[in-house]
Amino acid sequence: MKIAVCIKQVPASTDVKVDPITGVLIRDGAKSKMNPYDLYAIETALHIKEICADASIVAITMGPPQAKEVLKEAIWMGCDDAVLISDRKFAGADVLATSRTLSQGIEQLGDVDLVICGKQTTDGDTAQVGPEIAEFLNLPQATFVNEIKEVKDKSIIVSSNYENHYEVLEVLFPCLITIDKDIFTPRLPSYKRGVSYQNLEINTVMLKDLPLKDETMYGLNGSPTQVEKIFSPDKNTEQKVIEGCALDVADALFKKLKDSKFI
Ligand code: FAD
Repeated sequence: MKIAVCIKQVPASTDVKVDPITGVLIRDGAKSKMNPYDLYAIETALHIKEICADASIVAITMGPPQAKEVLKEAIWMGCDDAVLISDRKFAGADVLATSRTLSQGIEQLGDVDLVICGKQTTDGDTAQVGPEIAEFLNLPQATFVNEIKEVKDKSIIVSSNYENHYEVLEVLFPCLITIDKDIFTPRLPSYKRGVSYQNLEINTVMLKDLPLKDETMYGLNGSPTQVEKIFSPDKNTEQKVIEGCALDVADALFKKLKDSKFI
């Protein structure tokens, strides 16, 4: 079984600066890390590999050259191989172009039985990339998976947590699943694997390597989303103490929350 796990490098801090003139994220000098949900996606792939002895796992990311760091981490956790999808022509991709590029990268790998994505990222946060990859590849999908119940020869049985209800689904291979947090506890990268693979060359896939070569389908050109404005929300640390008897405090709190449109 061939498993592809999609992982993304995201800013390590929530204190991300935005250029006030261009509205673009200032990534230079900003520390990065693997998207936390993708640790669960990798751990799920490793868990399936423990059940299916013939399974191999390839970690994929689309990003700039420095995104190799998360691929190395994936290898140190136990993935067998890693692919960086990187080209200047992919820059400025919205969710549609990102999903198209990743689906092309997966197609280029050939014969993938199972694609695993995190549920969402901590920067873009749309939770749309997994489902859109499945659409591009014409694969059945199960999202928000919080339990792997059984891995069979031709299918996988999973439980999905949709907050107000659970669904148990049997999905035929090849398919795509997106993983909720807490499905398994992600393992730490192994020091031993880190030493063994310290000189590992990570394969970089560019536009010319993908099956679909039409430049207008990628990056900013292939992104129909128009961002009108990106800004850092104002931080308000103002505090107010409400005093009085419990009933008056509750009334005042209710009024305040209602006036602020929280309720
Ligand atoms: P989600 O849908 O929340 O992620 C779900 C899962 O999909 C993840 O857990 C992971 O498994 C997988 N996944 C998501 N992204 C990747 C990836 N890149 N590689 C591998 N797996 C992935 N972002 C930039 O960094 N640079 C830009 O120049 C840029 N320009 C943009 C321009 C526009 C007009 C717009 C709208 C967005 C732009 N973005 C840019 C943001 C970028 O489009 C999103 O970060 C990207 O589409 C992923 O969406 P998401 O973070 O919401 O992923």
